[in-house]
Amino acid sequence: MFLPRKNVDEREMLPKSAGVPNKEITMIGANLFRYKACPGGSCVPSGPAVTLAMLVLLLSLAFPFARPLSALSGSAAHAADQADQYEGKKAEMVASQLAGRGIENREVLEAMAEVQRHLFVPENLRRLAYGDFPLPIGHGQTISQPYIVAFMTEVIRPAPGQRVLEIGTGSGYQAAVLAELVAEVYTIEIVPELAQSANNRLRQLGYANVKTREGDGYYGWPEAGPFDAIVVTAAAEFIPPPLLQQLKEGGLMIIPVGSPFHVQHLMLVNKEKGDRVTTRKLMPVRFVPFRRAE
Ligand code: SAH
Repeated sequence: MFLPRKNVDEREMLPKSAGVPNKEITMIGANLFRYKACPGGSCVPSGPAVTLAMLVLLLSLAFPFARPLSALSGSAAHAADQADQYEGKKAEMVASQLAGRGIENREVLEAMAEVQRHLFVPENLRRLAYGDFPLPIGHGQTISQPYIVAFMTEVIRPAPGQRVLEIGTGSGYQAAVLAELVAEVYTIEIVPELAQSANNRLRQLGYANVKTREGDGYYGWPEAGPFDAIVVTAAAEFIPPPLLQQLKEGGLMIIPVGSPFHVQHLMLVNKEKGDRVTTRKLMPVRFVPFRRAE
């Protein structure tokens, strides 16, 4: 697949240095929290919002029984509005960022259209969840850009009966996308808090075919292997031999390889018949580093 350079994920960054997303967040954050200073410290509220609020107060005093009902329908309508908004953004993401850039596998596009990415990011970043960039998820880690998730999912050629291993659970989003497509997903996360919260989230959302584990993914998950495919979502300096060992004959592994301070490449590793291993560089990327347990 030909990928023009501009489509390359140059922004798969560490949150601290993630120019594009962080700038955007800061900007939006600034807008959200902008408020007018109140000189002298004592302000009498005024303006149309206050008039409206007083009207609502008077009405609610006049019709006390109407209050709980109207409050309820108001918040239900708000929630429905928000859900619609996310649906719209999600559909737009699939069409423009994924299908529009060459993701062709229909099942992968459907999985990306199914998983509610906004439920995998911190609450204050939900409205940015379907943007064309990675987002911070805490502990110095990121949820990958949607295009990268779809690309990595597509290249391992997911199929219904498969068992897939992921290294770097993070938010659990990539695992959820895989879980829509294959029989079983095993995912390992080295940061205990992330492992715990991703596990809770995946349970809550009903992803019963995802098994999570806290630990150093370098060693893989030998008892559950061999795997049809392995997806590594942190950049390693080399392909961890235990992972290669746990790949089935004919299996595929996608892994960003390179040092944290240089260009890394997404490598597609193919363990061919007779255990011959071939690798192919697919595109330059920037991922958070693959860490090792001390
Ligand atoms: N796939 C994630 C995003 C991954 S960010 C998602 O969809 O949200 C990469 C993750 O890999 C980080 O959470 C990081 O803590 C984790 N990680 C780094 N080195 C690891 C290792 N050796 N074993 C397991 N997880 C690791």
